[in-house]
Amino acid sequence: LEPDMSHQKLDQLLALRVRLREFAAERDWDQFHSPKNLVMALSAEAGELVEVFQWSSEIESANPNQVTRDAAAKEMADVLIYLVRLADKLDVNLLEAADRKIEQNALKYPASEVRGSARKR
Ligand SMILES: [Mg+2]
Repeated sequence: LEPDMSHQKLDQLLALRVRLREFAAERDWDQFHSPKNLVMALSAEAGELVEVFQWSSEIESANPNQVTRDAAAKEMADVLIYLVRLADKLDVNLLEAADRKIEQNALKYPASEVRGSARKR
């Protein structure tokens, strides 16, 4: 990424990546953003997201109230922020990586064979 590239020319995920890079740089936090630290922070935020639904029933979690939705959105944002920061550090194109993984999953789990089954293979 060119630092002087206009954000409008970048897709939203790339714009977020640059924004987070700048956020860290302005605070001199880049020194703390090793992949190890970032993945630990990501895991902690995923745990906070778990907490939002921890004691919900299946039905409650499928029909969250506004307070729960807002809390979940905050923690999802935290997870995304650390994931995007990690992707920046490891020079991973997240959307390309996700597309590749979905293609692998499609080969591993052909719809005609697994439809309606949660069984692992
Ligand atoms: Mg959080």
